[in-house]
Amino acid sequence: MIDLLRNLLKIKSISPNDMGCFDVIEKELRKLGFNCERINYLNVENLYATTGNSGKLFCFLGHTDVVPTGPEEKWKYPPFSATIDGDILYGRGTADMKASVAAFIESAKEFINSSSTMNFRLGILLTSNEEGSAKDGFIDQIIEKMIKDNEIIDFCLVGEPTSSKKVADCARIGRRGSLGGHLKIYGEQGHIAYPEKVINPILLSGDLISNLNNKIWDNGNDAFDPTSFQISNISSGTGAHNVVPGELELTFNFRFSPESSEDSLKSEFESVLNEHNLNYDLEWELNGLPYYTKDNFFIEIVSNSVKEVTDYRPELNAKGGTSDGRFVAKMNSEIVELGPVNKSIHQIDEHIKISELWTLKEIYTKILTKINQVS
Ligand SMILES: [Zn+2]
Repeated sequence: MIDLLRNLLKIKSISPNDMGCFDVIEKELRKLGFNCERINYLNVENLYATTGNSGKLFCFLGHTDVVPTGPEEKWKYPPFSATIDGDILYGRGTADMKASVAAFIESAKEFINSSSTMNFRLGILLTSNEEGSAKDGFIDQIIEKMIKDNEIIDFCLVGEPTSSKKVADCARIGRRGSLGGHLKIYGEQGHIAYPEKVINPILLSGDLISNLNNKIWDNGNDAFDPTSFQISNISSGTGAHNVVPGELELTFNFRFSPESSEDSLKSEFESVLNEHNLNYDLEWELNGLPYYTKDNFFIEIVSNSVKEVTDYRPELNAKGGTSDGRFVAKMNSEIVELGPVNKSIHQIDEHIKISELWTLKEIYTKILTKINQVS
């Protein structure tokens, strides 16, 4: 497993390029009897591998692409050298998420070699454009195609790095939605010495921002934090000290729980704007809908597997950014995300603990064994 992982880490598969990771993976999976299919959209590669003849479909979901390294000279070891130092394996894409991909394959191998019967279908679905623009939505297109072909995933294990301090201490049973917007507030430009002749959009935005910041959009629920509102950019001003500007632009984002919806947030946001009698333009951008696995069946299997291997249970939450789980949710699949510690992801010196990767692999194998028992 570690050799396979190191081979994958040495490939510079910066999003959206797979750069041959799938060739390495496919070779391993074919040895195990998987049927491998490449599904390509607009030069982005995806790999869908399955084995088993009948029964429910369990699918590992992951990606082979990685984010850029940043300044390579700041890394302790070159980011694509896959250097091992004691129990630590360094490299871009270790935690996010080539280690999980290696663990998918190793656990599948262990399960297949140790089981006399296979009562379910085992799938591995990998994309090379997870980290890239969500708009490209390649997994989205594959999922649409699978739904059309009646290839419905019953249980989906996403290997994204969900763990916080030690492996498997946290799992995700949902993700918040992401709704962005761009607001332009219009005032009346003029000389700063003639306040009666200007309408200052900067002063107007003060009360507005304060109200938006204090507003409770919802209270969240057991798995979800309350919806949060943030502003990422604000700009106004002509550069001159004696001119009140005529416009102000502001970029904002909601990370929202299923207790709110795209429509409810849009209309509440707009009603706050209207309370302030503003002259404005508003553009919305939906980046992802929230998803939430309500059924306990698969969640219990994952939680029990973690407990049996580690002696603790994962905290089940819906924290973090969006993930490809939101696309699979369209199939009404039961989805749980469980992967390595995420402390170093996207950072300089990204790494994993090798001992924890073996633990993760053991948990994955345990999950497959339990799925087989209940199928
Ligand atoms: Zn990832």
